[in-house]
Amino acid sequence: MAYPVIERPSPNRGPDTHERLGVLFHHSQMGFEDTINLMQNPASQVSYHCLIARDGTRCTLVPDTAVAWHAGPSRFMGRSRCNDFLLGLAFEGDTDVDPISEDQLASTIEWLSARWGPLGLSLDRLADHRQVSPGRKRDLNPSEWDRLLRALAAHFGGSGSPPSFPS
Ligand SMILES: [Zn+2]
Repeated sequence: MAYPVIERPSPNRGPDTHERLGVLFHHSQMGFEDTINLMQNPASQVSYHCLIARDGTRCTLVPDTAVAWHAGPSRFMGRSRCNDFLLGLAFEGDTDVDPISEDQLASTIEWLSARWGPLGLSLDRLADHRQVSPGRKRDLNPSEWDRLLRALAAHFGGSGSPPSFPS
């Protein structure tokens, strides 16, 4: 099935210089509308490229071509400033409280399918916030990250084992 996609542009964005080398996963903690409202408020200075509701609806907040402000101090693929090169995809909710829903998983696969080939994505170009900002961020719950990665490995191919991270 195709999930609904809505557009709610965020002013919290940088220039159209995004490198689109991979994807950084988050959970929003807050609900869908509250998260969108936060990201449409210029004072918050935060944004994801896309937020996925519990029912699978996707909200586009920042176009892929632009830098969104979701990572903060971070490091992945041997580089800092993950906002410059990782797209920000977030699940509505708190994965320490509720598992990622089946609709969220399926909607993620839809979103990734449009990008996987064109961007040359692979499992080792995916990370969660906890991994790129260790000790500072807790999203996603590690068991939910493992579940997500297994689902993506089953769909896109790959071992499903967690990628190794540069120290
Ligand atoms: Zn996060």
